[in-house]
Amino acid sequence: MTTETTTTAKTTKQAQKAPKKYFHRRKFCRFCSDSNLKIDYKDFHTLREFTTERGKIIPRRIMGTCSKHQRELTQAIKRARILALLPFVVTEG
Ligand SMILES: [Zn+2]
Repeated sequence: MTTETTTTAKTTKQAQKAPKKYFHRRKFCRFCSDSNLKIDYKDFHTLREFTTERGKIIPRRIMGTCSKHQRELTQAIKRARILALLPFVVTEG
């Protein structure tokens, strides 16, 4: 009796990384670069730029805002919504 143990456990993971080329638009935090620009819940003109036309807050990965300022921004937008300076949701038609 011969016991042959043939273990052919080949782990060949083919990492297919297709290099997708996006437009190289350098993201930067607008509040970090511009010291005059301040996050204020009363300043809805600035806050509105960070929301979509439907009234949603644009995520950080799109706007490029740093985590610190994004947190302040969302807080300010939510505050502004309560004060009816910004819409919760925009429904058209
Ligand atoms: Zn920042």
